[in-house]
Amino acid sequence: MKTINDFNFNTKKALIRVDFNVPLNEKFEVTDTTRIKAAKPTIIKILEDGGSAVLMSHLGRPKGVQEEFSLKHIVDVVSEVIGVQVKFVNNCVGEEAQKAVEELKAGEVLLLENLRFHTEETRGDKAFAEQLSKLGDIYVNDAFGTAHRAHASTTIVAQFFQENKCFGSLLAKEIESINRVLQSGEKPITAVLGGSKVSSKITIIENILDKVDHLIIGGGMTYTFIKAQGGKVGDSICEDDKQDLALEIMRKAADKNVQIHLPVDVIGADAFDNNATTKVIDVKDIPDGWQGLDAGPKTIEKFHEVILQSKTILWNGPLGVFEMPNFAKGTIALGESIVEATTKGAFSLVGGGDSVAAVKQFGFGDKVSYVSTGGGAMLESLEGKVLSGIEAINN
Ligand code: AMP
Repeated sequence: MKTINDFNFNTKKALIRVDFNVPLNEKFEVTDTTRIKAAKPTIIKILEDGGSAVLMSHLGRPKGVQEEFSLKHIVDVVSEVIGVQVKFVNNCVGEEAQKAVEELKAGEVLLLENLRFHTEETRGDKAFAEQLSKLGDIYVNDAFGTAHRAHASTTIVAQFFQENKCFGSLLAKEIESINRVLQSGEKPITAVLGGSKVSSKITIIENILDKVDHLIIGGGMTYTFIKAQGGKVGDSICEDDKQDLALEIMRKAADKNVQIHLPVDVIGADAFDNNATTKVIDVKDIPDGWQGLDAGPKTIEKFHEVILQSKTILWNGPLGVFEMPNFAKGTIALGESIVEATTKGAFSLVGGGDSVAAVKQFGFGDKVSYVSTGGGAMLESLEGKVLSGIEAINN
């Protein structure tokens, strides 16, 4: 795996694909700078080597050129985070962009306008990618969030750089973390899969059954498994047409010596509402009119024991409807268990959509080993797919 540390950027112009798809409020102010901060180490290494940085990103999903999606809105914040006054050019290709790059001196940073103002970007247009490739000597991909897309700036552009292409430090960290779980993790390896549906996680489950020792299943997925085994799930979320699949997963897990851990009790509610009446119910005996919306106390304890024995932990998906404070306890407790295991030396990776939101919301973000920056890209990695942006650098 070639990273920025394999290059000396002295006198070089680095064309860096970053993920500055940041949230803006109605005044076009950046409300969360996480992604900009995440790109900083790569940019700083290049500047400190004596190089310059040409940054390219998308922002939102514009239809053609739309002022509200202009990256000009974020120039000041990027400058502040990086500590260098960033220059801006209002196109990402063409004469203007070319001229701005030519004028760029060592130690300077240039931000190009939103890549998606050109439909060629998402189409993965080769001629457009070739134009982008003229804006740097070395191509650096540091955008994990779009690494699963075969877009011009994330994948196609790499073919114009032959040897001169590499991963930025953020993307390298993502790849290392995933590999550490799926390829070289210290045993016992435990995956916790929560969230709402079996159908959206099935490819991940099938892929990780070959890699893990323990699989904890929680959240809404629970009830499909419980019903398939003959339990009563009341009004809980349940995919009836996935019951055979659930049994098949249980069989495969047994064949592969993977221990599956399901909840034993749940917080039942008489409505899908934070203010519903609740009671602790046996997971196999949920009466009609009640639904399981969170893990119960015995379940939390059981999962805690498994987590604390683990040396490598992957967490994807909440254990309950954590968006409602009254059903967030299971997810918070799981986060606490993972933090405790991490403190005792385990490697923990949190990735994919809602679990990332949960760890951030509950303040565990800097207490686990790594929180992934890419939702879809993380899910595809866990499904065992080779991401096109990663393949493009490795080839
Ligand atoms: P996913 O995107 O598949 O990871 O699912 C995340 C969603 O699953 C969150 O919005 C949770 O509120 C939801 N969820 C978790 N547990 C349950 C449950 N027991 N019943 C309904 N939804 C749930």
